[in-house]
Amino acid sequence: MFKLHFDNTFVRDLPGDAERSTQPRQVDGALYSRVDPTPVAAPHLLAYSAEMAGTLGLSEDDVGSPEFAQIFGGNALLDGMQPYAANYGGHQFGNWAGQLGDGRAISLGEVINATGERWELQLKGAGLTPYSRGADGRAVLRSSVREFLCSEAMHYLGVPTTRALSLIETGEPVLRDMFYDGHAAPEPGAIVCRLAPSFIRFGNFELPTSRGDVTLLQQLVDFTIGRDFPELTGQGEALYAEWFGQVCERTATMIAHWMRVGFVHGVMNTDNMSILGLSIDYGPYGWVDNFDPDWTPNTTDAQHRRYRFGQQPNVAWWNLSRLAGALAPLFADVGPLQAGLDRYAEAYAAADRANIADKLGLAECLDTDVALMQQLRELMTTAEIDMTLWFRALADVDPQEPTLEPMREAFYDEAKRREAEPALSDWLARYAARLGDDPLSVRARRARMRAANPRYVLRNYLAQQAIDLATTGDPSGIHELLDVLRHPYDDQPGREAFAQKRPEWARHKAGCSMLSCSS
Ligand code: AMP
Ligand code: MG
Repeated sequence: MFKLHFDNTFVRDLPGDAERSTQPRQVDGALYSRVDPTPVAAPHLLAYSAEMAGTLGLSEDDVGSPEFAQIFGGNALLDGMQPYAANYGGHQFGNWAGQLGDGRAISLGEVINATGERWELQLKGAGLTPYSRGADGRAVLRSSVREFLCSEAMHYLGVPTTRALSLIETGEPVLRDMFYDGHAAPEPGAIVCRLAPSFIRFGNFELPTSRGDVTLLQQLVDFTIGRDFPELTGQGEALYAEWFGQVCERTATMIAHWMRVGFVHGVMNTDNMSILGLSIDYGPYGWVDNFDPDWTPNTTDAQHRRYRFGQQPNVAWWNLSRLAGALAPLFADVGPLQAGLDRYAEAYAAADRANIADKLGLAECLDTDVALMQQLRELMTTAEIDMTLWFRALADVDPQEPTLEPMREAFYDEAKRREAEPALSDWLARYAARLGDDPLSVRARRARMRAANPRYVLRNYLAQQAIDLATTGDPSGIHELLDVLRHPYDDQPGREAFAQKRPEWARHKAGCSMLSCSS
């Protein structure tokens, strides 16, 4: 049997719940509850990340062993594991929701790997916890495939994210009402093992403050800075201020990456915001096909579209301001917290400009380039242009003789294309003129654009095809998609099918263009 080295600081250094049952309850004065995964009938491995296995020091044989499926399916524990569910609150869709907690996530422990990195292992869908609130603590195959693939895809796109080690089918059905229309049906169950240096969320800080428990708040803040931000020095309020500023900057970096690659999280509640600025909790997320700042993949959010694509930078700011509110008891006045929020705005504006320069292939982003990009965004929206295909092909435009020809595949609607053609050609002429003033060589410009504009993204319909195949018992679609997404910026001859725009059949199909929170 393989071994991992654990250093479980969260349960060692922080106060936990005295009770050990899974009885749903309010847990005061504690940051977690110890709870073991609930065993499943017949766990078997569907897919794994070879890179993350290697990071943990696990061989292919280890991963293929029956013990691996038992452990990461929740049926057995390795020496040194101390499973727990974290206690946190959160603002959901703009409203304070009180205690939420890990309702179906169970952390197994914190691995220290051969190079000294800390990786917390967490099972998602491993059974009831005190925070399950009447739900079943389980996850269905479709949402688990989506979490597994997206975690890895985001990493290879260069987006800060939690990672995934394994995807295990449990051999047990899970009952879900996918469309919230009163028709619950059994679906295959699955468990993802995900990894991050820390799974602490904004909501972990909000809960103690909401209860007036400043001692607990301060304990968690000191712990988080000490473990997860060891590079920060200083003391007291100055240290807290610097730390909050860092969280703001990291969040800005993450959101700018989302906007660059066309990722829409779908449920940016404060309990889904990582203190490390990692993308976390992949639920009804989606990838923009035709560019549309108003698009949201989440049917639960369809009415108000709070978490729509173009709104994400503002929502992150709002979430950070909720975190600031949670941290306020540690500050004599709100000045330093306000300064942190300002750092978010500055860091986001700088990252947005860097995105513009990268995506358009410019040595630097001038004020006039911000306007140029904004005009393009508007044209792409009205003309229904595929974001990924457009930017990838834009590198092939000849500035001497600019035409729309390289981007011909990016259009979804012929009538809209024809109508927008004069305005697009006009934009292209201005873009070509701008390139004429830019010092980058043709080669350097192309390289820059190709490193920022992926060829392959996890389009919703691609994920759904892999899910449909896996549901028939064949996980090969997951393996192939994972392999494609490991090199999103490379042209992969023979894999053109994965770089196509959304097919017409997928426009309104469940799982492809709209997803519910039911997972
Ligand atoms: P999410 O929208 O996935 O971030 O979930 C919000 C809250 O609901 C978190 O506290 C989750 O742990 C909890 N939750 C979601 N699905 C389940 C489930 N099937 N069983 C128990 N808790 C759940
Ligand atoms: Mg969540």
